[in-house]
Amino acid sequence: MSLSQLARALADGTRSARSTVQATLASCERANPRLAAFQALAATDALACAERLDAALAAGAEPGPLAGVPFATKANLCIAERETNCGSALLAGYRPPYTATAVERLVAAGAIPIGTTNMDEFGMGSSGENTCYGIARNPWDLGRTPGGSSSGSAVSVAAGLVPFALGSDTGGSVRQPAALSGVFGLKPSYGAVSRYGLVAFASSLDVVGVLAAEATDLATLLAVLAGPDPLDATTVRIEGPGNEADRELDGLVVGVARETFGPGLDPRVEARTNEALAALERAGCVLREVSLPLAGQAVPIYYVIATGEASSNLARYDGVRYGRRVQGDDPSLDAMFEATRAAGFGDEVKRRILLGTYVLSAGYAQHWYTKALRARRRLVHEFDAAFREVDVLLGPTTPTPAFHLGERVDDPLAMYACDHLTVPASLAGLPAVSAPVGTVDDPAGGATLPVGLQWVGPRGSDARLCALVAAADRLGAPFTSALAPEVSA
Ligand code: GLN
Repeated sequence: MSLSQLARALADGTRSARSTVQATLASCERANPRLAAFQALAATDALACAERLDAALAAGAEPGPLAGVPFATKANLCIAERETNCGSALLAGYRPPYTATAVERLVAAGAIPIGTTNMDEFGMGSSGENTCYGIARNPWDLGRTPGGSSSGSAVSVAAGLVPFALGSDTGGSVRQPAALSGVFGLKPSYGAVSRYGLVAFASSLDVVGVLAAEATDLATLLAVLAGPDPLDATTVRIEGPGNEADRELDGLVVGVARETFGPGLDPRVEARTNEALAALERAGCVLREVSLPLAGQAVPIYYVIATGEASSNLARYDGVRYGRRVQGDDPSLDAMFEATRAAGFGDEVKRRILLGTYVLSAGYAQHWYTKALRARRRLVHEFDAAFREVDVLLGPTTPTPAFHLGERVDDPLAMYACDHLTVPASLAGLPAVSAPVGTVDDPAGGATLPVGLQWVGPRGSDARLCALVAAADRLGAPFTSALAPEVSA
């Protein structure tokens, strides 16, 4: 059931929040051994929350816009007293004393968090495999990744278990799994949604985003989530959706960056993208080629900045304040730090801490970190120039459809390279949505795999972008989304 159907059923009394949550928990329990979407289900808390809501509604309270809608949260979003381990052994058992603003706002609108989802450790990865907890599986083909790092959140939506889930996106972690799993993924403008209670990976890039089964739900969720928060000084107020003409495809100027069609783009993904562009042209959009030369360098720029910030953010995990402590034979404090971090962090996190410490170190910072910051600024200018000519930028979200689990996990460069279409918008702090544009067949037979189209808008235009994505969705094919076939099996 979609978000709006669920909320309506509750408002007109055909369903109670309790029965909805019960049914959701039961289907999650059934599906999870196969999909590993959830790390943990919060059955007791979710049922209690549903009962409180049913009682309030029975007493005449106005239902919120998300009343009784169950949702999943990525394991890096704090929920008070609930284990928030970020997919890391180091934070096993860590229970924060407070709840993330994004979760608070959804709950205030009537939504019910039902469990935490599997993810790459601290959000570092593109396949969901960098974790000591469960590795989520793509419901379209269980041998493949659903994408990462918001892997379990994408699966929970793609498999029809929840109508939406929260994720986080630093360089593509909402959009890439949305594309590979066949759902909608919104990465808001930087600062549009509070990061309070989102465990930091790279603070100048991190945003809380949503994965949803239906295009129209993005705007509803954005309206609940966005807005200044006194607890996060980087939050800003974003624009509304504009007037009716702003939300129409007819006359919309669509930029297509030459650089997005570079080498490495799977011809099947390219074909789906071109079909979508042609359909938009038929609907009245004006296509215009633009150039973003530095977008071609976005992966190295991103990996210098993101690892630098990560090495600093992750310095706090020292065994003193958070999570696990490992004390070896040596009783010194330094030895405890070392043993804790050696045992607690996985390989990818260690690789990034080493790289990040190097790019920030005296003597090298000028050459790497400062240079990357300068390149980032220039990329921002390139986007500004493009948005003086076009309303939105469109292209594929990922260069290939979902790849096999195990295929890239031992080849970090291959894994990083597949982020090259999502990191530019992250570096520039722009809003971006990945929307399903049909499927492709695996040449080896067997799997049918979804493809995502990425929409990028000017900073702050999140609401308009969601409206445009919904307008494209109303065109029908090739903008068709479907839940994974595995679900109905
Ligand atoms: N795949 C990218 C990385 O590994 C992006 C991750 C993210 O957005 N959290 O850094």
